[in-house]
Amino acid sequence: MEIVSFDQVSKSYRMGEVDVTALSQVSLLISKGEFAALVGPSGSGKTTALNLIGCLDSPTTGEVVVAGQSVGRLNRRQGAQFRGKKLGFVFQDFNLLPVLTVFENVEYPLLMIRDMPKGDRHPAVEQVLEAVGMTDQARKYPGQLSGGQKQRVAIARALVGNPELVLADEPTANLDSATAQRVMVLMKRMRDTFGTTFVFSTHDPRVMDQAEATFYLEDGRLLDAPPAYGEGRHA
Ligand code: ADP
Ligand code: MG
Repeated sequence: MEIVSFDQVSKSYRMGEVDVTALSQVSLLISKGEFAALVGPSGSGKTTALNLIGCLDSPTTGEVVVAGQSVGRLNRRQGAQFRGKKLGFVFQDFNLLPVLTVFENVEYPLLMIRDMPKGDRHPAVEQVLEAVGMTDQARKYPGQLSGGQKQRVAIARALVGNPELVLADEPTANLDSATAQRVMVLMKRMRDTFGTTFVFSTHDPRVMDQAEATFYLEDGRLLDAPPAYGEGRHA
């Protein structure tokens, strides 16, 4: 069963006098539980595609369906609610709050869920910190962590609300290649443990090797086949 579908999706941005086409007629399907990669050079449309899946933007034409919901039809508030319930986000620059501890950073999204008692929050935080191997660092601040550890915390934060789908925009871009590899292996293990679908973007061949489904983008178009190596796939 699919969790994400794009049907002839295009997205353009008005820049002064000109329209910039970020995505052009993209159709694709991502299955529930899949570990899927959006791959392409800078400017190929990866972030635009992730923003559409994340209800942070809506398509100019075509339809994006995420977890059974057509995202173009959601207003701002509905979009925020949908994100809070169904989605987790991981960013290339980690986006941790420097004044909060590791534990508090991971707890933070749960504070946004109304009526969740502390008695439920704490075990949820402990479970995901344990899963990413950061229990021992729970009282530290982000500034005391390495890049790889920060990304582990960010992955825990993305998972703590038990989302159906985690979106990760170039999650390893600021990590050395050995650390990047370990972060990808961890994300895949989280998929195995929690059954969460992961969609990530990258242009690093070693990172894309981990993917089960790879979508190659170039100038906003989905390629039928990879430009040089691997297996492409589209709907
Ligand atoms: P990638 O993430 O693969 O680097 P993006 O999705 O960020 O690619 O960008 C795709 C294209 O759309 C680029 O040409 C970019 O300049 C343009 N673009 C993206 N976002 C905007 C925006 N908010 N306003 C104008 N142009 C944009
Ligand atoms: Mg990008």
